[in-house]
Amino acid sequence: MAKLYFNYSTMNAGKSTILLQAAHNYRERGMDTYLLTARLDDRVGQGQIGSRIGITADADMFSRDSDLFAMIEARQTEGPFVCILIDEAQFLSEDQVWQLARVVDDLKIPVMAYGLRVDFLGKLFPGSAALLALADEMREIRTICHCGKKATMVVRQDQDGNTLTAGEQVQIGGNESYVSLCRRHWREAVND
Ligand SMILES: [Zn+2]
Repeated sequence: MAKLYFNYSTMNAGKSTILLQAAHNYRERGMDTYLLTARLDDRVGQGQIGSRIGITADADMFSRDSDLFAMIEARQTEGPFVCILIDEAQFLSEDQVWQLARVVDDLKIPVMAYGLRVDFLGKLFPGSAALLALADEMREIRTICHCGKKATMVVRQDQDGNTLTAGEQVQIGGNESYVSLCRRHWREAVND
């Protein structure tokens, strides 16, 4: 039975690496997968899923107004694939998560979405909120805080290492960096 899976974590937990490993495992067995990732800016052309350990793969891109059900149906005409792997799933809209649910239920293709659960202010991303509501199965991809506890939160820092406590949920092309922390150390960092 096809299912909608949500694999969530905080930043720098290796989500993309795990996604690419899954695609590789299928390919090794002669099975194709359909890779999708978010388009966050106006770059045109082919998207790519990259991981911090250096492996990459080409992927189709979705934007705010993409109809994922239509994209996936169209891709089916080019040849069979056994599942859909979506990176940056936190950037899906609620409607798009429903489109993925219809792909699972009506086209009977498994969808594995990988994304961040919360932003740097501790708020759910819209795509993640919808996936938490609608996914058949959820799995946490774990990483650790500097103290050794599980990291569930993330802080945004400027280039001098100062923690930022305001700003847009999605920042493109800045000099900010992100550090994953446990909740206690996140609260300390944002002066809660
Ligand atoms: Zn900690």
